Amino acid sequence: MAGVIRRLDETVVNRIAAGEVIQRPANAVKEMIENCLDAKSTSVQVTVKDGGMKLLQIQDNGTGIRKEDMEIVCERFTTSKLQTFEDLSAIATYGFRGEALASVSHVAHVTITTKTADAKCAYRASYSDGKLKGPPKPCAGNQGTQILVEDLFYNVSTRRKALKSPSDEYSRIVDVVSRYAIHNSGKSFSVKKQGETVADVRTLPNASVVDNIRGVFGNAVSRELIEVCCEDQKFAYKMKGYISNANYSVKKCILILFINHRLVESSALKKAIETVYAAYLPKNTHPFLYLSLEIAPQNVDVNVHPTKHEVHFLHEDSVIESVQKHIESKLLGSNSSRTYFTQTLLPGLSVSGGSEVKPSSAAGDSTERVYAHQMVRTDCRAQKLDAFLQPKEKPPPDPEPAGASSKEPATKTAQPDSIDMDETDDADMKRPRKTEQEEEEDLTAAATPKRRAIKLTSVRELRAEITESAHKGLQEMLQNHSFVGCVNPQWTLIQHHTKLYLLNTTKLSQELFYQILIYDFGNFGVLRLSTPAPLYDLAMLALDSEESGWTEDDGPKEGLAQYIVDFLKKKSDMLMDYFSMEIDQVGSSTSWRLSQERSRYDRTLHPFLTEC
Ligand code: ADP
Ligand code: MG
Repeated sequence: MAGVIRRLDETVVNRIAAGEVIQRPANAVKEMIENCLDAKSTSVQVTVKDGGMKLLQIQDNGTGIRKEDMEIVCERFTTSKLQTFEDLSAIATYGFRGEALASVSHVAHVTITTKTADAKCAYRASYSDGKLKGPPKPCAGNQGTQILVEDLFYNVSTRRKALKSPSDEYSRIVDVVSRYAIHNSGKSFSVKKQGETVADVRTLPNASVVDNIRGVFGNAVSRELIEVCCEDQKFAYKMKGYISNANYSVKKCILILFINHRLVESSALKKAIETVYAAYLPKNTHPFLYLSLEIAPQNVDVNVHPTKHEVHFLHEDSVIESVQKHIESKLLGSNSSRTYFTQTLLPGLSVSGGSEVKPSSAAGDSTERVYAHQMVRTDCRAQKLDAFLQPKEKPPPDPEPAGASSKEPATKTAQPDSIDMDETDDADMKRPRKTEQEEEEDLTAAATPKRRAIKLTSVRELRAEITESAHKGLQEMLQNHSFVGCVNPQWTLIQHHTKLYLLNTTKLSQELFYQILIYDFGNFGVLRLSTPAPLYDLAMLALDSEESGWTEDDGPKEGLAQYIVDFLKKKSDMLMDYFSMEIDQVGSSTSWRLSQERSRYDRTLHPFLTEC
């Protein structure tokens, strides 16, 4: 049997509609705050009892409501903001459909106290189901409006039951107020529980956006913020805001998104942003973002959702992609400042090679579609740790070749090498000036001195030991890696194929110098000390250091020092042969013939080791 169709009672219709607009106390608060802002208020104070279910009071200092309008203000579709449908395409106020107050008054007891600038006094009126309960009564009051909402959902028991605990609802209210407070810096907001003297969130009229973020979310996030700001002509949008950098992360993503000053949510944008951060943040941690997008009003449809929570706009995918790119570039920018030393003092690295791997340049390229986190460093020669180690085979004949840029790395690397040559081969300096080519040949010869074959069994054994215990995979990795950056003094990040590795710099250096010592044994170059070092004093210094392990039982230090001098003197032939250490008869090491190679390593590694 077909059912009979009847027209629904108007109050039933309104109550159903109201349930759509006002789903929970926080929705009501949002609507009220928007009304305050539409009324040009500079101060909005929210007081809450029982998570807003018992009482919600929103006080502002805006334009107020004219006494004549008080009769219809809570009726559905009464508004001072929209007149024709066409107005909707360029709406500049939050409200436009005159539904909020009406909806609230259908599911709660509403009392409005309001005073306009030219009224002699304030007026107060109570409403039920959109209708005035009695004529507005004159009363005392400041300019502005106070809306009191009591017993929310008193007549919709299902909705009341569906609500979470008062504390949960209260935190949602605090959330809404704080987000509007952050977005509306220059206006003051506060939210507190009824009866409390201290507000849970309070912002000051002269506070900046960052001040407000600090006030609400704390110092930890506010000091790790990067300002974002961009404009796109093509998709007619502007974006401003603050995003957390790679040093900050939280368990849950906080995205405070305003589109045309409306607090909205966009899961698509959130997802897009999270993919960008995934490359920078530890697993399962998320960023903080406050973004304010302004899209040409004619491109935005705000009327798609009863709570106006979701908005649709033209070119949504393109705008999201554009925002995503901007955020990526900002993050890269901030990230390169954290790892700035990846680019400093790379001997042997051509200037163009250096800029290729600079993250910021990748980001600056607007036609580049591949995000940095998807890129693999393919040219293993671009940056390797060896860059610090290998002496340049041929120093440039002219420190500043014609046409070459005078950028740092090229000149920096040229310098230590040429100084090396001058210092180590002082005989060379006294010779008459030679042609450039001759000089070049000399330098090359000096860089690769004739090697002496070492036949000592012990050294050979040690070399064999190194070769035997060499790990093929590790060797290959060290030969073909790319240097990424220094994490801290201890750890260095390198990439090999598609994997990132942490290298223990201390361990690696120990092994490196040990191997240099073994392989270059008997082949160290000369480094003449300008003042011979007295062995006795050196021995005393050594004994004075804690590491010597000297105790009184060992006897007086002076005696020991003399013993050391005598001992070394006795072995001077061997020391000369093995380590190129010259010891004269006075007991001074006149030239400490430590490796030329090694001094070069020292020089080149030094900036690396200390900067790390
Ligand atoms: P809308 O905001 O869509 O116009 P509302 O139901 O929220 O509809 O509000 C109805 C009208 O009541 C508004 O158009 C405005 O004129 C007035 N109003 C509501 N709140 C305030 C307020 N805080 N200050 C001044 N006027 C207000
Ligand atoms: Mg409104």
